[in-house]
Amino acid sequence: MPDCIFCKIGKKEVKVLIVVESENFISFLDVQPRSPGHSLVIPKRHFDNFVSLDLNLAQEFVKICQETIKKIGRGLNANDFTLGVNEGELAGQAIHHFHFHVIPRFKHDRGGSIHSVVFNEPVESVEEIYSKIIK
Ligand SMILES: [Zn+2]
Repeated sequence: MPDCIFCKIGKKEVKVLIVVESENFISFLDVQPRSPGHSLVIPKRHFDNFVSLDLNLAQEFVKICQETIKKIGRGLNANDFTLGVNEGELAGQAIHHFHFHVIPRFKHDRGGSIHSVVFNEPVESVEEIYSKIIK
């Protein structure tokens, strides 16, 4: 997509600090990091979100994520990470080109677990919710 910043990064039209690159993916330092080493993994081609990512790229995607984590871990002496995707606007996806966050975690970094991103405990029972999902 012509105006997509991540497509431009994938085509090397916008310079970023690359952590790892593979045939179809690139990981680079986020310009608005939430933690030292906070990186994004993106496919070079445009996919709107996680659900639309080509499954034929799944293994390469997992591999570059793992390599990114290991490289950041070695360089910054980080052993722990929060990994995640903001899938859709309500979840905070600001750029509609799939991107995966790799966020190194450090002692006393004032962050929480992934459970701390939403507080919307359901009124219905888990069984009622399950019956809606499994129709
Ligand atoms: Zn794009």
